[in-house]
Amino acid sequence: MNIQFHNTLSGKKEDFQPIRAGEILMYTCGPTVYDYAHIGNFRTFVFEDLLHRFLEFHFREIKDFKVNHVMNITDVDDKTIAGANRDGIPLAQYTKKYEDAFIEDLKTLNIKLPTVMPHAADEKEIQSMIQLVAKLIGNNHAYVKEGSVYFRISEFKNYGKLSKKDLAQNITGARVDVDEYDKEVGADFVLWKATKEGEPSWDSPWGKGRPGWHLECSSMSMKHLAETIDIHAGGEDLIFPHHENEIAQSEAATGKPFVKYWLHAKHLLVNGEKMSKSKGNFFTLRDLLAKKDKSGKFYDKMAIKYALLSTHYRTQLNFTFELLEEAKENIKKLDDCYFKCLSVAALGVEREANVASKKDFENHPKLSGLREYTTKMAEALQDDLNISVALANLFEVLREINSWFPGSIAIDGSQLRGVIFFFKLIDDLFGLDVSVINSVPERVIEMLMKIIEFRRKKEFGPADQIRKQINDETGWLVKDGRPGEPSTVKKKRRTWD
Ligand SMILES: [Zn+2]
Repeated sequence: MNIQFHNTLSGKKEDFQPIRAGEILMYTCGPTVYDYAHIGNFRTFVFEDLLHRFLEFHFREIKDFKVNHVMNITDVDDKTIAGANRDGIPLAQYTKKYEDAFIEDLKTLNIKLPTVMPHAADEKEIQSMIQLVAKLIGNNHAYVKEGSVYFRISEFKNYGKLSKKDLAQNITGARVDVDEYDKEVGADFVLWKATKEGEPSWDSPWGKGRPGWHLECSSMSMKHLAETIDIHAGGEDLIFPHHENEIAQSEAATGKPFVKYWLHAKHLLVNGEKMSKSKGNFFTLRDLLAKKDKSGKFYDKMAIKYALLSTHYRTQLNFTFELLEEAKENIKKLDDCYFKCLSVAALGVEREANVASKKDFENHPKLSGLREYTTKMAEALQDDLNISVALANLFEVLREINSWFPGSIAIDGSQLRGVIFFFKLIDDLFGLDVSVINSVPERVIEMLMKIIEFRRKKEFGPADQIRKQINDETGWLVKDGRPGEPSTVKKKRRTWD
């Protein structure tokens, strides 16, 4: 089965064929670092993380395969300049704070960092952008007006092909100078802005000025990847004018297709409404992490990631606190199942069973069900990242693993190593950070063995005493099994533990 992605350019699902063997060229629009990113932004970044991880997963058998992923940091544009001027500090100082926060937020959500993150205000990037503008002036696709340079959209016959907007009636030679503008205006947009009082500027053949926002993505994508790339992704709000303008600038300069597959994530609603500060339903990631649930515990970062991940990227996601509760329950199920396996391994079915084994995963006869569900999960993701079906199959696997534990079913070391491998695979794919703890400390195992022994003799008092000791002293928690199951341990690592 081939990978299929919904391509905004054609408006339908298409077979995905990479341009190069062994590498995917992918560009995603990065943040404008003028404020903390909100959960609507992170929905898009989580979707792009899944896309990146899925491509690595899908092509993992190809030697040295890599996803060459570029994401820009917009650190000079209308919004960042306005913010720096408002605070009365240099632009670089203003944007650094929000860029650092953004990178920290990506790490919090266990989002893979892109291969390259070029900065719009970087001197080398500015020079590349100037060259691109010069090329567009040279071939009549752009013109200079009072020290600014504009893209001439009447000269680009496919203008509107991504957004499917009929902009013909608006092509009157009107010009826009701002980075973000009315969704229905097909105007000559600014590539290079003549310097203004209180704005940073760079020398150019057209006098001092600075790049317009749209220009950087064209320039960086072609410079750091290639003139034609495989995938460009972003939020749906970027389709027009930003991505439409990127196509115009790039294709007018090279005469080649800029991007083969355009993927766009729908933005989210919070409690059924568009996020807005005035409605009180506007959340940055930091706002959510500082909130407590009904039980008085902070919301957990992986529950937030799960909530953002679990709705298909082209479906409207309605973010609610109930959804976050459900996400929490699902993360708990994953954790419980993993730590049960890790504990049983540590208890000595075979001590080294905490070592993941691909060979055991692929060959152990008792893991045939797991392999089947894993295949279904992978196939669901091949179908335009069908996350709902993928997650449904993931929980089928957990059900199967959990069914092994009561009493009579013997689990051998090789089987456990195969299961641990499965959890590593899942973490590679979804980035939910389930299997990062690889082993149970010796002291905890010894205490756990005593608990099991006491419980076997029905001496519950001493068993409870040791349990309390583990909980208080070791950073681990004891969980009693269902009848016939041994007690197991779990590392305290989520906010609810
Ligand atoms: Zn962009």
